[in-house]
This record gives sequence, structure tokens and C-alpha cells, in this order.
Amino acid sequence: MTTPIVKQGTCLCKKVRISISPEKNIFDACHCSMCRRWGGGPALTVEGGKSFHIQGEEFVSIYDSSEWAQRAFCKNCGSHLFYHLKNTQHYNFSLGLFEGVENFKFHVQIFVDSKPAFYDFANKTEMMTEAEVLAKFGATST
Ligand SMILES: [Zn+2]
Ligand SMILES: [Zn+2]
Repeated sequence: MTTPIVKQGTCLCKKVRISISPEKNIFDACHCSMCRRWGGGPALTVEGGKSFHIQGEEFVSIYDSSEWAQRAFCKNCGSHLFYHLKNTQHYNFSLGLFEGVENFKFHVQIFVDSKPAFYDFANKTEMMTEAEVLAKFGATST
């Protein structure tokens, strides 16, 4: 038996409060052009796990960024909250919202073939191309 990890986070203005229970102490980076346009750089995210709670939902705006995914942000301060694959229970929350994640490990970088050459992370992580990501997660959407 493992004790679930619970992490608390807030957006910049603190109107939205989130608690997540990721199964592992890891986070990922996405280099796709949509994440970079959304956030100005690669998106660092952590999985929400099977149970997560959002307080201040009236401040959460959810945007359909594609047919298969939604992105959420705080209406008041603009902080990015999560990325959600619509046909799944898969929610990836912005790592920067959370406290107590200093020991989390940088696990995988996805859409590495979309990464521009002008930056690189020095961390050694797993790397997945768009085709590899779609082969792994695309099978669950129709
Ligand atoms: Zn806010
Ligand atoms: Zn992305």
C-alpha cells in the first residue's frame, strides 16, 4: 500500500485553489507549438491523479483548444490551470501552481520534434516525439 501524495496549489491571485494526488513524484514537459503559444514556452505539468479538487470553480475558464483537448485558466489572473484530454480522466496541471514539489523528478519531454532549436533543458529525461505520443495516448481517443 502506498500513501497517496497530496499537493496543494493556487493560481497567482489565489481565487482558484487546487489539490491533486499524483501517483508518482514526477512532472513532464511539452514542447508542442500549442503549449508554447499558450504559455510562452514549454509547458511543465504534473498529473492530477485519480482524485483532485478545485475550489473557486466560478473563476475557472475552460477553453476547447482542439477537438480532443481542453485547457483551463483563471479568469481573474490568467494563470494556466490544466490541460485535459476530453475522452479520458487525464488532467495535467501546471507544475508551477503547486507547493512542495521540489523533490519531483523531471520524467519525460514530449513533442520533442516540435521543440525549436533555440532552447534545451539540461535535465536528462525520456524523450517522446509527436508520433510516439499519439501512438501511446491517441489510441484512447476516437
Ligand atoms: Zn487567479
Ligand atoms: Zn503541448
